[in-house]
Amino acid sequence: MLGLSLREAAVALRRGQVSPTELCQKCLSFIKETTILNAYITVTEDIALKQAEEAEKRFSRGYIPPYNATVVQKLLDQGAVLMGKTNLDEFAMGSGSTDSIFGPVKNPWSYSKRYREKRAHCRHVAEEDSDWVITGGSSGGSAAAVSAGTCYAALGSDTGGSTRNPASHCGVVGLKPTYGLISRHGLIPLVNSMDVPGILTRCVDDAATVLGVLAGHDPKDSTTIQDHFEPFKLPDVIDVSKLCIGIPKEYHAPGLSTETLSLWSKAADLLEDAGAKVIEVSLPHTAYSIVCYHVLCTSEVASNMARFDGLEYGHRSDIDDSTEAMYAATRRQGFNDVVRGRILSGNFFLLKQNYEHYFLKAQKVRRLIAEDFVKVFSSGVDVLLTPTTLGDAVPYLEFIQEDNRTRSAQEDVFTQCANMAGLPAVTVPVGLSSRGLPLGLQFIGRGFSEQQLLTIAKWLEKQMDFGALEFYKVIENGGIPQLHSKSASSL
Ligand code: GLN
Repeated sequence: MLGLSLREAAVALRRGQVSPTELCQKCLSFIKETTILNAYITVTEDIALKQAEEAEKRFSRGYIPPYNATVVQKLLDQGAVLMGKTNLDEFAMGSGSTDSIFGPVKNPWSYSKRYREKRAHCRHVAEEDSDWVITGGSSGGSAAAVSAGTCYAALGSDTGGSTRNPASHCGVVGLKPTYGLISRHGLIPLVNSMDVPGILTRCVDDAATVLGVLAGHDPKDSTTIQDHFEPFKLPDVIDVSKLCIGIPKEYHAPGLSTETLSLWSKAADLLEDAGAKVIEVSLPHTAYSIVCYHVLCTSEVASNMARFDGLEYGHRSDIDDSTEAMYAATRRQGFNDVVRGRILSGNFFLLKQNYEHYFLKAQKVRRLIAEDFVKVFSSGVDVLLTPTTLGDAVPYLEFIQEDNRTRSAQEDVFTQCANMAGLPAVTVPVGLSSRGLPLGLQFIGRGFSEQQLLTIAKWLEKQMDFGALEFYKVIENGGIPQLHSKSASSL
């Protein structure tokens, strides 16, 4: 063991061929055997053994990242208490939180009395544990954690909607900030040109508070803003009468549920009644967004995933007949088929003969999508009001029966354009579907207009009176310990 290089020793430790304490003891005893060299003036035996013990604990808990993401560090610096890491789709690819190596995330609203009663009425399956709905994704664990009341705020990531989609399905607020407002350092990249850390909270005010902690320049992420960011507090009395709200006509997408549509109209009416100007606008390139996102996303994925080669970090296969065999086996074992599928698609689009036809063309379409927003905002529109998702969350068994990938792609239709244009967007819970599941509406604003965006969102939150806080009260009154038992209907 003592003849290995540092790297080789690290591999041996990781494989469990030697424990940190054993290795430390070997070094200590060899130090004693070689005192004749006079190399050490002090041997810190106790400290070394203690550190080895700490390392032992870390190893037994699994792989612990050696540094914190900037967003995590900023929260810690402000005294936040971190409760844990939440579940998500593998590498944040998905819209269901169903494709995780840790198993799917269950939507807390599946256990509400109202949902259970409705299901009992229509299906006689209400008491079965299999009858639960998805959280949406990919940051479903974060949305479920906030929604169930296990923490006050959570972080997610948002590349095509992964914060807003689960926030909407779980009845919480989900903010995707402007690209560049929050550091991505420490965030595992999915699509670098679209990724942003997302914020999930119980109310809009809380999203503004967390944003105030996280926003600002980070020397470790060169795409972050250089300007100073001034945290803001949202006003209590909000006047929307001077605002112009755009309703994009293309967002009347196929598959939009009638319930979502009617909440969307209701919100538009409320804004109009309060004196805002509500107008129909056009974002004509929306129709190409799903295909465009697919090409750009998978191409960046193909490039990003190349680093998971089993050598530097992450999973490494035991097969080591040759470097190529180890590399292939690592990647075969380490990625689920959604991830592998995207790597294959992306590499196809990036082939020399396809690059121009697919990747470059998608880049151009992305520009057109972004320009649609520029045109609308420069015509005097302050924010856009849209649905967040097509409808309420679907039961897990239904979700996995369908073509998961197509479903997943369709789910992002209202959210991904804001990512391609780098714009801020927020989802606010506005009501329950007839099945007793939350529905959200989204506002999209100009770049770096978070203060205005969240102010309008807070206004709507108050008007629609979703009453999510009532849900937490029910949970506090004893619902949550029974979530997974048959008496869950007591919620
Ligand atoms: N559903 C989208 C995808 O799978 C968005 C993912 C995300 O925002 N992380 O690519």
